[in-house]
Amino acid sequence: LNSQLSEARTTIFTVMSALAVKHGAINLGQGFPDTEGPADIVQAAADALLDNRNQYPPMTGLPELKQAVARANSRFYGLDVDPVTEIVVTSGATEALIATLAALIDPGDEVVLFEPLYDTYVPAVRLLGGIPRLVRLTPPDWVLPRAELEAAFGPRTKAVLLNSPMNPAGKVFDAEELAFIAGLLQRHDAYAVCDEVYEHLTFDGARHTPLMTLPGMRERCLRIGSAGKSFSLTGWKVGYVTAAAHLASVVAKAHQNLTFTTPPNLQRAVALGLDKDDAYFGALASELQGKRDLLAAGLEEIGFSVLPSHGSYFLIADFRGLGFTGNDVAFCEHLTEAAGVTAIPVSAFYDQPDAPDHYVRFAFCKRESVLREALDRLRAYV
Ligand code: PMP
Ligand code: GLN
Repeated sequence: LNSQLSEARTTIFTVMSALAVKHGAINLGQGFPDTEGPADIVQAAADALLDNRNQYPPMTGLPELKQAVARANSRFYGLDVDPVTEIVVTSGATEALIATLAALIDPGDEVVLFEPLYDTYVPAVRLLGGIPRLVRLTPPDWVLPRAELEAAFGPRTKAVLLNSPMNPAGKVFDAEELAFIAGLLQRHDAYAVCDEVYEHLTFDGARHTPLMTLPGMRERCLRIGSAGKSFSLTGWKVGYVTAAAHLASVVAKAHQNLTFTTPPNLQRAVALGLDKDDAYFGALASELQGKRDLLAAGLEEIGFSVLPSHGSYFLIADFRGLGFTGNDVAFCEHLTEAAGVTAIPVSAFYDQPDAPDHYVRFAFCKRESVLREALDRLRAYV
């Protein structure tokens, strides 16, 4: 058996969702909306199923989806992308992450990552024989520690993995931070895997800027998007990679050996979604911002100390004000059982020892009535 996989723990999202079901708790752990995505997109997928769209689509994606991804790159970020050679459609951003890392790294190559991080990153790098070099961001603002980042780069650095907007921290990297990272990539002749699945989910006027749009970065970045997040259809697992042709062609070689293709009916429907008007994407973010505010205000009132979240589905809260003395894992288990509300311990987003253990992550991508009910339960509990 593969030692890394056989010794790996089951992902925290599965563990906490199972615990929520067991105790009938409101699940503000795993990040998925509790409403359906747009009805016209779902209908388009259903129509496509009944319209002879059930055999293998082209390996790098249906032309109509690749064209829609290229149009979206141009419309939102002014990027000029060739839909034929510079887009690869994958089965979710998760496959895109593995395929882009596989395309870049040889065993022994180093990948720079930022803690706290999404729980797929480090195992994916290690499975491919890469060596993670972790740089820790510090709450409450998760500012980029420039000297430490610089020190993490070296002769074996092949890439940095940048997640902005960031899960779980809700951080959106600003222009100066991006410019600093871009400078390091150029100096060390390295690449960036840019996990931008929350690209349309930013708040308070914070705008997402792809690293790829900075000078000199067009050929160094592999930009990942996900229909799951942009259309509130997380089960669909349709992702897309945008990268210069010489990089995308190697990503395609990884993809052909991982999943080879992605269901064609879903691709066709996502193509329709990407052409939705600005009002759709604006409402997606502003509705989510309202939910963030509702949950944050309620948690503060109950005694949590809530950190700012400028993007993603998530906010982080410090629970020490409630008087609980155990760590974050114990707190999440306790909260599920005693209050009937489930969150995710933030220490699960760390690989190095000495992770902070007094924070939990709440997902606010839920109906307002559900968020209110969760707050009522927490109020009754404290
Ligand atoms: N990256 C991040 C930062 C995520 O939070 C997620 C969560 N789903 C993914 C990637 C995976 O996206 P997908 O479901 O499209 O595989
Ligand atoms: N991205 C989701 C989260 O952070 C979880 C996805 C999963 O369960 N793998 O909650």
